Amino acid sequence: MIILKKVADIKLFISNTKEKGMATGFVPTMGALHAGHISLITKAKTETDQVVCSIFVNPTQFNDPKDFEKYPVTIEQDIYQLEKAGCDILFLPGVDEMYPTGLKNSRHFELGFLDTILEAKFRPGHFQGVCQVVDRLLEIILPEKLYLGQKDFQQCMVIKKMANANYPSLQIVICPTKREKDGLAMSSRNMRLSGTERKQAAKIAAALELVKKNISAGDVRELKLNTTQYLNSNGFKVDYVEIADANTLQLLDFWNGNQVIVILIAAFLNDVRLIDNMMVGG
Ligand code: AMP
Repeated sequence: MIILKKVADIKLFISNTKEKGMATGFVPTMGALHAGHISLITKAKTETDQVVCSIFVNPTQFNDPKDFEKYPVTIEQDIYQLEKAGCDILFLPGVDEMYPTGLKNSRHFELGFLDTILEAKFRPGHFQGVCQVVDRLLEIILPEKLYLGQKDFQQCMVIKKMANANYPSLQIVICPTKREKDGLAMSSRNMRLSGTERKQAAKIAAALELVKKNISAGDVRELKLNTTQYLNSNGFKVDYVEIADANTLQLLDFWNGNQVIVILIAAFLNDVRLIDNMMVGG
């Protein structure tokens, strides 16, 4: 695997491979890699000629400075895992390379109501930061295909919207969420959980399964409320338990029974914020 840290170097490398007709698959990450990230690399390997993974803990997408400071960094293990998965190029830029004119985002990305609900409501500015970094990475790497995880459901929709406007020929591939044996969605933030918290954390996936099992057409408000209470009584501080149309992310109080929907949860265990989702139908 080739490791490049400078924008100029990776641009040159990619332009040479483009001349040879090679298609690039791109997997952007913030590092602290786990099997979920690696599943994206593996998928990209099967569908493109070369795979680029980026590791950059993007300061502009953290609304909480403490979350940024505590974000796990495990670069040596990351390199080992990427090598093992057959990743071709690791792009490992510093802040100066990514944001040569400073961190302030002068550009506004038009995301409509996606920028006011769920993650956007509880993490103001988060998706503007996500778009800022993904736009910059796409502009540098110019991939044919971009691989994202369904684990970050709203983020997938936000990036699709941004990319449709700015990179219309880019293909976006959404990969399923990798889970631990007890159902917990793999996440870099899981590393920050204590032994007890780690066991508790599986209750989010259990709650999603419960909603999936018990949901029926009609009013779903009580189900959302009961699920919030279930999590709060199990030691979580819930940001939201929501049910939305899986195609538009329109939040629902009533389900017609036919619409493909997604159940979305965000909750804190002490100071670690976890998110997960599950689709029903589709
Ligand atoms: P992150 O490093 O958390 O920014 O994630 C980088 C990419 O990996 C994003 O597209 C995530 O949605 C995806 N990802 C994170 N966790 C998982 C998981 N458990 N399964 C599949 N993809 C994931």
